[in-house]
Amino acid sequence: MYKTSTILQSFNEIEKYKSRWFKQNDQIINPIEINLSDYKKDRDAYIKRLNNIYQKNLDNSDVEGIFGKASFLDNNTIECNGDTYQAENILIACGGMPSKLDVPGNEHTINSDQFFDLKEVPKRTIVVGGGYIATELSQIISTFGSKVTILVRKCLLSTFDQELAGFQVNNLENSGITYQCGEVEKIDKNEDGSLKVTFQDGKIQEVDCVLVAIGRSPMLGPLKLENTDVEYDQSKIHTDEFDKTTADSIHAVGDCNGKVALTPVAIRAGRIVAERLFNNRPQLKMNYDNVPSVIFSNPPIGSVGLSEEKAVEKYGKDDLNIYKTTFGSKSLTYLNKNFEMKSSIPKRKIRL
Ligand SMILES: Cc1cc2nc3c(=O)[nH]c(=O)nc-3n(C[C@H](O)[C@H](O)[C@H](O)COP(=O)(O)OP(=O)(O)OC[C@H]3O[C@@H](n4cnc5c(N)ncnc54)[C@H](O)[C@@H]3O)c2cc1C
Repeated sequence: MYKTSTILQSFNEIEKYKSRWFKQNDQIINPIEINLSDYKKDRDAYIKRLNNIYQKNLDNSDVEGIFGKASFLDNNTIECNGDTYQAENILIACGGMPSKLDVPGNEHTINSDQFFDLKEVPKRTIVVGGGYIATELSQIISTFGSKVTILVRKCLLSTFDQELAGFQVNNLENSGITYQCGEVEKIDKNEDGSLKVTFQDGKIQEVDCVLVAIGRSPMLGPLKLENTDVEYDQSKIHTDEFDKTTADSIHAVGDCNGKVALTPVAIRAGRIVAERLFNNRPQLKMNYDNVPSVIFSNPPIGSVGLSEEKAVEKYGKDDLNIYKTTFGSKSLTYLNKNFEMKSSIPKRKIRL
């Protein structure tokens, strides 16, 4: 009853955005069609409110904000907007940028940032990529009414436990998303604005949107790290167990150090660097093991610790006992959907 009342409550909340009942091939994909433009306005306003709260917290802590692109002049000097700033310690937290699809016509694609700028739901979408961002955005845009194909090079969620990934593939297919292995060869724009996507196997698919979610890498160029002793490569800034770079005065946390790309991890790592440097806790360091993560799919899947594949790689198969158990989602029990969750097999792995 709680579940039902929550659903009804959600219908009341969504009332503002619905325009009509939505059907595809005579099948109700989603009971309502979302007015994405109105929805976006409210979501953007919410984010603006959050920005203001963070700004106030910084002001209250006497933190001065300088808005501009920062670059290094040396290990202790930053240049920004023509001014220079010197510091004993500098923290890099420049995050990452979505990687581009390296094929002719990539200018017709959008990335995950632009996804949140969509004002209309595309009728047909190809999502390129097999990570959690591709998975989450596929389901969102599909339930909003788009006919979605998810295109992966090898397999979905390759860094996750493959049993969970298998569950997710079933999940996507059950929700009407086509799952396809392959790679894009080129993208052409048709006169009516739609896109003709040619795959490497020669097949062609016409869609209205190609969303690329093939990973993220730090935008290091503008930082001019070549003026420092910081070592880095295309995918990350190299750091030690204390998140210190190869320059003593410079630390790097968050997505740019290539360890665990999640918001709470970036926040925690930043706090730990501050505690160690300024609160006399010289041995404090971030533990990047066993960070729990969730994929916001329907239903959501979560995991913590090593995947079975990684555990076997680390300890060897003979040193592991693997226990499995299944359970049905209580929220689906009343719909008699329990048995559809056959592949929902959470596992406990114990090293003996
Ligand atoms: C679609 C999507 C969904 C996600 N979902 C989740 C989720 O559900 N849960 C979760 O925990 N994580 C999620 N993440 C990951 C999360 O967003 C990142 O892990 C997190 O934002 C990393 O924080 P950060 O501080 O390292 O970098 P960012 O948040 O990317 O911030 C970096 C900032 O540095 C600025 N910058 C870069 N270079 C310079 C420069 N030279 N000078 C000045 N400023 C500069 C950038 O403009 C940016 O404002 C998601 C990411 C994406 C793309």
